[in-house]
Amino acid sequence: MVTCEVCGEAPGTLLCPTCGRRVCPLHISEGRCLICSQATCRICKRNLALTHCMICGRLACNNCLIQVDNVRRVCRDCLPLARARKWPGPGEVRLYSLGARRLAYRVLHRYKARGNIPQPEPGGRQGGGSVG
Ligand SMILES: [Zn+2]
Ligand SMILES: [Zn+2]
Ligand SMILES: [Zn+2]
Ligand SMILES: [Zn+2]
Repeated sequence: MVTCEVCGEAPGTLLCPTCGRRVCPLHISEGRCLICSQATCRICKRNLALTHCMICGRLACNNCLIQVDNVRRVCRDCLPLARARKWPGPGEVRLYSLGARRLAYRVLHRYKARGNIPQPEPGGRQGGGSVG
């Protein structure tokens, strides 16, 4: 007797048309065994799932996932949400730090132009403590 390949207890009376596993009626739904339906895209319910949507967490296939940046993928349903959220991607973060550095440079440059940068005396005189 062939047992269900999902639970290993009940007789596998049904054949999954997708993977060919023998499963019991408990572990087949929508014409697929539990293993196949778990690995199936939750959006189109047709393709093999690739990964989870970053927002709703549903398994989705390559077709139903939209890449929002280098690392994040969301399903079509969540795309408007992802756009509204505006995650700072790695690229944006780099741009930000570059901007900050540029600003610091500009401020420094301005000080230099006015000759206001406190510089150590070449003579090396210390003490006294008279500051104008
Ligand atoms: Zn079973
Ligand atoms: Zn299957
Ligand atoms: Zn899909
Ligand atoms: Zn989603």
